[in-house]
Amino acid sequence: MKANESIPNYDIKVREYTNYAIKSIKNVCKSFGPRPVGSEAETKAQEYMKADLENFCDDVKREEYKCSDKAFMSWVIVGATLMLFNMVLFTLGISIGGLALTLLTAFFIVGEFIFYKPVLDGFFKKVTSGNVYGVRKASGETKKRIILVGHTDSAFEWTYTYNGGRPVVATIIFGSILSIIISLVANIYSMIHFQGVIGSLVWSAESGIAIKVMAVLMYLTAPILIMAYRFCNFKNPVMGANDNLTGCFISCAAAKFLSDNGIRFENTEVAVLCAGGEEAGLRGTKAFLKANKDALKADGVETIFVTIDTIRELEFSKIYDKDMTGMVKNDIRVAKLIQSAAKNVGLDVPIGPIDLGATDSAAASQAGFPASSFVAMNPAPARYYHTRLDTADNLSAQAIDTTVKLAIETVFLYDEQGI
Ligand SMILES: [Zn+2]
Repeated sequence: MKANESIPNYDIKVREYTNYAIKSIKNVCKSFGPRPVGSEAETKAQEYMKADLENFCDDVKREEYKCSDKAFMSWVIVGATLMLFNMVLFTLGISIGGLALTLLTAFFIVGEFIFYKPVLDGFFKKVTSGNVYGVRKASGETKKRIILVGHTDSAFEWTYTYNGGRPVVATIIFGSILSIIISLVANIYSMIHFQGVIGSLVWSAESGIAIKVMAVLMYLTAPILIMAYRFCNFKNPVMGANDNLTGCFISCAAAKFLSDNGIRFENTEVAVLCAGGEEAGLRGTKAFLKANKDALKADGVETIFVTIDTIRELEFSKIYDKDMTGMVKNDIRVAKLIQSAAKNVGLDVPIGPIDLGATDSAAASQAGFPASSFVAMNPAPARYYHTRLDTADNLSAQAIDTTVKLAIETVFLYDEQGI
């Protein structure tokens, strides 16, 4: 059965589900506000989604998990602090100390931000977040399972996406990387020059001109590191209407569509996962998989994950075949399934890698499930991305309408032809 043949006046009827999604996003924003991971607002928003899903799913559960709310983004401040201390140690001629701090910084960045590993989490207090999972069962034997994923939490504000945009964000990222590279080279060179792990003051006669030049280059990156302190403003969580209540309620809308219209697939189970803690480093989806992976694999039913994240600018829509800053491979078959579904709703979407960061599909791919993501956001990034501008009056009804159709189409297509 084709999605657009499943009920009469399909295009007009789908509008109802778009309206449902938009109304729900507005309700959650108005009633609960910004939802950093583990906040009361996130819990209440999840309870709201759970109550909603209970109307269109057979089984709905909310599972709690613990994670740190600030550890993931704290690598910026921790790294900037260590790199500034490194400059002091290098200036004093204590290159072994400078090198150790530089390597530690690189370890924290690679661990937390490139691989989303909880390398800093042990130093931070834990909060309780949760995941909401609703299942619409198959009428007969379950042979396939599709899980639509959105995330319930919202980010802390990124100061420079709001003030300055791409040039400033790029300057901080590349300036910081440059600072690390200069420090690595300078500390190692200094140890070779002094033939020991501790040398003389950079500005003494014993240090050659090369060391002095490297010191100046290092100092030039200091203002960028100081700017990095304000990169993520933990005092100002944002509303996250687009990122990612769109993903949550578009997924819920697909389940509602099936339920309202009495559609139940014979062999395909359709599930919705509203995961917490994505902005804290995919912690919700990771926790969901830790708790449910074995059960999902034990029944032998093929399970695919389709993440929907930040639906606002259709002209920039993309399906990710590589996630987590390119380090994790998503499933090309799932990517192509979404692409075919998109084509069926009149949208040509390229498949390609994510620029920076990750979506919940990365966690599913890492756990060994076929997964891919659909995102519709200007990667510049858009000025509302992780800022106070991501509000319920800054939604695109057209983008949501098309993606509601895309989500329904993906489910139907998966039931019909699999991956
Ligand atoms: Zn986000």
